[in-house]
Amino acid sequence: MITELQREYLEKMGIDVWERKGKDSVQVPESATDNSPSWQELEHQVTTCTLCDLHKTRTHAVFGVGNDQADLLVIGEAPGATEDAKGEPFVGRAGKLLDSMLGAIDLRRQDIFIANILKCRPPNNRDPQPSEVKLCTPYLQQQIQHIQPKLIVAVGRIAAHFLLDTNESMKNLRGQTFSYGEQKIPLIVTYHPAYLLRSPREKAKSYVDVLRIKGILMTADK
Ligand code: URA
Repeated sequence: MITELQREYLEKMGIDVWERKGKDSVQVPESATDNSPSWQELEHQVTTCTLCDLHKTRTHAVFGVGNDQADLLVIGEAPGATEDAKGEPFVGRAGKLLDSMLGAIDLRRQDIFIANILKCRPPNNRDPQPSEVKLCTPYLQQQIQHIQPKLIVAVGRIAAHFLLDTNESMKNLRGQTFSYGEQKIPLIVTYHPAYLLRSPREKAKSYVDVLRIKGILMTADK
């Protein structure tokens, strides 16, 4: 609750004081406390980004797809050729398999959010370079900040390594629950669907991971 004296001082300082009707709390205008761009502004920044050389060879920057209030955030590595052409993540063969994996626990693309570490395709699908990741990571961090997911799933070794700042093998990373960032968002690691297409025998293990996703989502609070 703000006193009359405080109000006088604030008004003299040129600070508008807004109070919610029926509530005692003072509402500070969001713009005064939060410099983060809106979701639309962020998307615009990503799709017009020229921070690294990948913009020179991309067709589309791939912001991500799905529900920006989702409980589950899936993070892959970088767009491939189909994703670059369409401007949407995981739409090639690997994407279809990802859809099936999520479908196994009744999740559809529109229920979750899917993004990548890099928003632009590295030429010839080479691995992302650390300098590119460094420039692109603030976009992902702002997406995470906005979505506030209950769970992050790092899809594949490269996404896991960058998100967790580790070089551990997939064997050691799978099956654990890490926590990401200051908000300590639970993060788990699973195989990249492109790897599963090459190694179909591992699909059974990825199903175990998918069931873990369901279990964590069912017990987590948002
Ligand atoms: N592989 C990824 O990691 N991300 C995509 O969007 C497509 C393929």
